Amino acid sequence: MTEKVQRCIVPGCGTKGDDGERHPRIATIGLVCDRCLDRHLEQLREIVDLYALLPDMIDPSTGEQATGPKVSGTPDPPANARLDVIAMLDPRSRARVAGDDDGNDLIDTLGVLAQWVWIAREERNMPTPTTRPTVASETRFLRGNASWIAAQEWADELYREVREAWAALRSATGRGPDPILGWCGILVADGECGGPIRQVPGELTLVCGRCKTKWETPEQRARGTLMMRTS
Ligand SMILES: [Zn+2]
Ligand SMILES: [Zn+2]
Repeated sequence: MTEKVQRCIVPGCGTKGDDGERHPRIATIGLVCDRCLDRHLEQLREIVDLYALLPDMIDPSTGEQATGPKVSGTPDPPANARLDVIAMLDPRSRARVAGDDDGNDLIDTLGVLAQWVWIAREERNMPTPTTRPTVASETRFLRGNASWIAAQEWADELYREVREAWAALRSATGRGPDPILGWCGILVADGECGGPIRQVPGELTLVCGRCKTKWETPEQRARGTLMMRTS
């Protein structure tokens, strides 16, 4: 009897093969591969920092969505207040605002995190803390229980929602995802790495998001570029 190999259940994991099918990496921690776990933990850490920046972003003149005419004589909040930012700060926003005019869902960061922490606590029979949940407390719980969570069948949903909340925060704070310059061709155990190559902000260094290979000098970068595929 051969044991079936468990593949990573995180949406988008793995690389597309010549057959056009996505081949998720082999799961190493529960139902998740180590790369997806690393990225998830990194997103949870970054969420705390990005969330702390949000109050500064409510003024519509900040952030990259600061477009549209200034409406004079309008009482607070201004007509083009950063609805997305307000929603992310407000735990009631999910019920109150389903989405903006463009059909984008507004994400209540704390609500998303707290909901998954609640599920995990329930399933692990952990007592509910008496203190109010915060973005810091909830991300700390999710990081501290990451190995157990990675073995749950709902880990894919959690990873997706955390990634969406993280991406929304990056966009609201003017840190949209850095452009992907190519795909990593470094050979790893199971073939080409295939990770996204991005520029390190403010530097000329290129870095692979998966294997973390860095190309720092012009010579390395030139070699790195050779490693890159354009599709
Ligand atoms: Zn994975
Ligand atoms: Zn790589």
